[in-house]
Amino acid sequence: MDETGQSFPEVREGVRKLVARFPGPYWQALDRARKYPTEFVTALTEAGWLSVLIPEEYGGSGLGLTAAAAVLEEIHRSGCNGGACHAQMYTMGTILNHGSAAQKAEYLPRIASGELRLQAFGVTEPDAGTDTTRITTFARRDGDHYVVSGQKLWISRAEHSDLMVLLCRTTPRDQAARPSDGMSVLLIDMRQAVGNGLTIRPVRTMINHATTELFFEDLKVPVANLIGEEGRGFRYILDGMNAERILIAAECIGDAKFFIDRASAYARERNVFGRAIGENQGVQFPIARAYVQMTAASLMVDRAAALFEAGQPCGTEANMAKLTASEASWYAADMALQTHGGFGFAEAYDIERKFRETRLYQVAPISTNLILSHVATHVLDLPKSF
Ligand SMILES: Cc1cc2nc3c(=O)[nH]c(=O)nc-3n(C[C@H](O)[C@H](O)[C@H](O)COP(=O)(O)OP(=O)(O)OC[C@H]3O[C@@H](n4cnc5c(N)ncnc54)[C@H](O)[C@@H]3O)c2cc1C
Repeated sequence: MDETGQSFPEVREGVRKLVARFPGPYWQALDRARKYPTEFVTALTEAGWLSVLIPEEYGGSGLGLTAAAAVLEEIHRSGCNGGACHAQMYTMGTILNHGSAAQKAEYLPRIASGELRLQAFGVTEPDAGTDTTRITTFARRDGDHYVVSGQKLWISRAEHSDLMVLLCRTTPRDQAARPSDGMSVLLIDMRQAVGNGLTIRPVRTMINHATTELFFEDLKVPVANLIGEEGRGFRYILDGMNAERILIAAECIGDAKFFIDRASAYARERNVFGRAIGENQGVQFPIARAYVQMTAASLMVDRAAALFEAGQPCGTEANMAKLTASEASWYAADMALQTHGGFGFAEAYDIERKFRETRLYQVAPISTNLILSHVATHVLDLPKSF
């Protein structure tokens, strides 16, 4: 911690310095063309910032989730978007925590060096939505292969990834002992799969997020690519979700800081009616409120990350961190747009782009209602409604 209470000041300083090479106009051009920020992701990979969670024995820096959160927060605070690469940090956790020794030795050092991009994580399906146990993408065992058929939706970065962690059924839901049984995790080699049973179709969205739809038609996947035990995949995916939620909450904190920084600066400089707009309490108070909300959410993110690092149960805290941080960033986004008046809508100010980008986090990776349902039923012992 430094004197302002910020964790990992050297990490933050290093990230800030690097991402300063990717200012607003870089993101504006990509956003217009809906292009992937390859140079940005390469620079972060080469500097080692995406492998901080990989243990040193596999070539990473072996740091904890708080350090990874600091990296993503600074990326977002600087106006950049970690959505292009955050999965490279945490998706490998499925291999690290549940893979065999041979899988770890084969993949983790190459993920750490950036030789292999593990950026894609395939869970969501069009007909299952949030009800993951209803997925129907199926992997049928055929000798030393699985044969995969089905469809996934909203799978981000699939076109920019060498590997993908895929959740599919290996036992139909109605034949499994419990709905959450009978799902398995396969590691898909995208370089071999595309054109041989896997088709990727980009989905254009309101943000530049490289998200796609995937179609599997008898894709052959070696049994050696099964992670952990067949049928236990849902548990492995749930394990990884806490890290994802905490890290995305850190991105929201970074976004909120970006909006607060920009709004404060603009409110000091913009003169209307012969004085700075920031002299008006009607302008000041929303900025101050955004700061209060961001600070409170940030403490929740720190708490969830600390529990995660200590190996303690943290599902509720990870969810609450994601909820509070995504609401703080959205309040700050709306506040910054209002503070900028008409200029908030101009592409060159970056507010409208970040406004669109930060809205995602109330829907993905988990929507707010589902978090509230978790707290209601798991913490408050209220009856489950579905
Ligand atoms: C840009 C983008 C990128 C994404 N990237 C990935 C990715 O890389 N990999 C991946 O697997 N997925 C990804 N997703 C999917 C994302 O996780 C889902 O969109 C999200 O979990 C919500 O699921 P859904 O869209 O199917 O909504 P639905 O499940 O259809 O829900 C729709 C709405 O209804 C509400 N709702 C549903 N059921 C209930 C209930 N019982 N009680 C109260 N409210 C309810 C939800 O809260 C939500 O607001 C991405 C999505 C987007 C938009």
